[in-house]
Amino acid sequence: MICDVCKVREAVVYQQHTGRKLCKGCFIEDIRKRIETEAKKQNLDKANKILLAVSGGKDSLVLADALSSFINPSKLIAFNINEGIRGYNRDDQIRKLYEYLKDLGIELIATSFKHEVGFTLDEMVKAATEKGLKVSACTFCGGFRRKLINEAGIKNRVDYVATGHNLDDEVQTIIINLIRGDLLRLIRFGDKPLRVSSGFVTRVKPLRKIYEWETTMYAYLKGFEFQENECPYISQRPTLRAKVRELLYDLEQKSPGTLLKIIEQFDSISEKLRANYTLNKELPRCVICGEPTTYERKICKNCELLIRAGLLPQEYQKYLPIS
Ligand SMILES: [Zn+2]
Ligand SMILES: [Zn+2]
Repeated sequence: MICDVCKVREAVVYQQHTGRKLCKGCFIEDIRKRIETEAKKQNLDKANKILLAVSGGKDSLVLADALSSFINPSKLIAFNINEGIRGYNRDDQIRKLYEYLKDLGIELIATSFKHEVGFTLDEMVKAATEKGLKVSACTFCGGFRRKLINEAGIKNRVDYVATGHNLDDEVQTIIINLIRGDLLRLIRFGDKPLRVSSGFVTRVKPLRKIYEWETTMYAYLKGFEFQENECPYISQRPTLRAKVRELLYDLEQKSPGTLLKIIEQFDSISEKLRANYTLNKELPRCVICGEPTTYERKICKNCELLIRAGLLPQEYQKYLPIS
């Protein structure tokens, strides 16, 4: 089988949504070009500094590899957080990540929940369970990751924070927010970056139009060694996301290209949504940690979780919203 693009090399990938058979070189080139197009829409090519949130998983490696092919690596800073999950965060993986980024010429800043928050994720989950809190590990993890990534972005004076969310992740989140009727969250999605508050660095997702199977294939064809073992808290993952994921997978199988169509339609809707919505009101700050929080709240969700888990001093109890 010959590649449909170069018509020279042997094809190794069948790209279902375009119906093309591609060789390794043409496949990687296709993904890079699509990432570059999206990144330029997000103005990443004009940025002075961009923080890349890297987990060491395939998506974050593809993100670093593709961006450094058209952005000077000296403008990129990778940021990695060790969550403190026993048996999951491993030293050899962070070393591999470090070496890989070094080859690309990208600086890596590594930190941990323990260092920044004072507790590992395991410690937070244990404390919450002992207090009988019905909060999943993913809620703690997601909330504190967002906070630390944002803080690192502010500290390093970056113009943007880029994450490795792929097309599958993005469409799942859009559908979930639609189901929940969460308009505020929904208007943050779209191909043009949106700054929600002066306390938040603008977040961009250059891989948002790349299928998950494509990032896996890119990583595989490039011979990346990446974090493949499953997080032990996977069973606590929200069930709605798992169901939406399954549904979207079925739709894509029956009609290849569906996910891309959904996100493109959504991008055009999102422009109209934003036009009718003003986001200029400044968000209030958490009285404990200083992070922006939502209206009518004194403290942020993260601090609320720590108080409820008994991990912050008793005196903070008075800030808890009545529930
Ligand atoms: Zn080719
Ligand atoms: Zn807070």
